[in-house]
Amino acid sequence: MIRLFDNIKTNSNKPKLRIITLGGTETVTKNMTIYECGDDIIIVDCGVGFPDSEMYGVDVVIPDFSYLLEHKEKVRGLFITHGHEDHIGAVPYLLQELNIPVYTSKLVQGFINVKLKEKKFKDISNVRFNLLNPETTEVIVGNFKVSAIRINHSVPASMAFAIKTPQGTVLHMADYKIDWTPVLDKPIDLGKIAMYGKEGVLCLMSDCLGSTAEGYTKSESALGETFNELFENAHGRQIFVTTISSNISRMYQIITSAIRHGRKVVFSGRSLEQNSTVARDLGYLQKEDSIYVSEDDISKYKQENLLYIVAGCYGQQGSSLDRLSRGEHKDIRLEKDALVIFSADPNPPGVMEDVERVMSNLTLRGAEVVYSAIQENLHVSGHGTRGDLITVASVVRPSYFIPLGGTINKMRAYRNMVKSLGFDEENVFELLEGESIVFEDGFAQKGDKISTKPVYLDGNMSDSLSPVVIKDREVLSTDGVFVVILPISKENKTLAARVEIVTRGFIYVKESRALIGKSTDVVNKVLDKYQGKIGDWNDVKFNIERSVEKFLAKETGRKPLVIVTSVNV
Ligand SMILES: [Zn+2]
Repeated sequence: MIRLFDNIKTNSNKPKLRIITLGGTETVTKNMTIYECGDDIIIVDCGVGFPDSEMYGVDVVIPDFSYLLEHKEKVRGLFITHGHEDHIGAVPYLLQELNIPVYTSKLVQGFINVKLKEKKFKDISNVRFNLLNPETTEVIVGNFKVSAIRINHSVPASMAFAIKTPQGTVLHMADYKIDWTPVLDKPIDLGKIAMYGKEGVLCLMSDCLGSTAEGYTKSESALGETFNELFENAHGRQIFVTTISSNISRMYQIITSAIRHGRKVVFSGRSLEQNSTVARDLGYLQKEDSIYVSEDDISKYKQENLLYIVAGCYGQQGSSLDRLSRGEHKDIRLEKDALVIFSADPNPPGVMEDVERVMSNLTLRGAEVVYSAIQENLHVSGHGTRGDLITVASVVRPSYFIPLGGTINKMRAYRNMVKSLGFDEENVFELLEGESIVFEDGFAQKGDKISTKPVYLDGNMSDSLSPVVIKDREVLSTDGVFVVILPISKENKTLAARVEIVTRGFIYVKESRALIGKSTDVVNKVLDKYQGKIGDWNDVKFNIERSVEKFLAKETGRKPLVIVTSVNV
């Protein structure tokens, strides 16, 4: 049991404010922040993390909800800043445990509903959505008064939150940039942010991902002309554009350009189709049916009259683009002189190899591949660089800072940047996962760290994988498996027949009869200790596993997964 946050009233009779980061620091993804004040807790964001390629069979990593579940009765609501996976991906898992109201934009509500349906969530109609309007709404939730603030990011309708607490106001500014010419949104509401600054802000929680890059981040609208030029020059050819499925502003520009060049739009990839449908319904994307063609109907059109927006810009295995690149797409055939445009993060962390593989396959099949390294203005970041971050820090002028959404190096760069603006670096807190800050009477200090463990999931709602399972899968993939089968008599619990050994992916059995023979000897030697009587199966199993593992490591230098199992005869 995690110690309850002590709710002793302070001198000024106001409950303390505690901010805990459950994710979104260090690893960048899996964003989740807890605000706790008196008897109330609110949560900001609830995202997934993405597994390393060594995490076999793990689809997502979610934050550890233990602390929230142990303080269930205090949790008042979930506030969501924007519709990216690393901010909303874990919402279905949280709502399954805690039926709390969700405060967010209409677009995010649409994206979350898609997820709930996909996960076969039981009572979608019972999920209590409360829509926030950055122009008007202020909601009171226990000790918190929350207002939304318009900001810019790479998905429309992104928001920051001004969270008023008895200890002061916290501005929660997750992923943001300053875009004076956004495609679908209004520009960031710097006026409102400055107004809070004037009133006095206790703490600014700020995006820090771009804190090592100079200047201002380019506007999303800088890309429109690039698509026009590329499409113009590819007259008569098949064209594919790949981008992430939540980048609705990017899609809007691609579709605008497609219409201009007399092409109809085909979405290929499930999440692209689902998200674009939500965005069309809400008026973020061009509505008219006549613009779009479904994948099933493409044979009715000439390829030069279509434009494909395909999923798989990060080289995801099995994605639409991946299948196309291998000639395995069931509906679309890549033509020899096709143009394939990558309009996405040019350096996606951890997946560059996959992107390279897909690009190579496309090139080998005769396509022309265009990407950021060889073509200007194909992608702009949704995160502000130093110019954006400094502007916000300067108008807010908070007492304290907590950088968000960046590795420790980005947090440190943010701290140094803030120091160069004349702030005291001691007032910038770099929070690691599970760490907290307690605010009391205008002062802040590090609070207790709550213990968190990684929670791995393999896509299916109900299955959570323990680190042990992942370790097993890793071993299986490299050193194979070595199974020892003991036929045990039902009646007298003794060995009823010869010990069997089966191996897969470990050694070539024919050439290793000797090794298997010796392994059998090792097993028999262990059994001898029990004098033939198998009483405590777990004990026998454990001792055989350890002995065989040791023997194989010594003989072969490898560590296959050793499984000892029994059959009753
Ligand atoms: Zn984001």
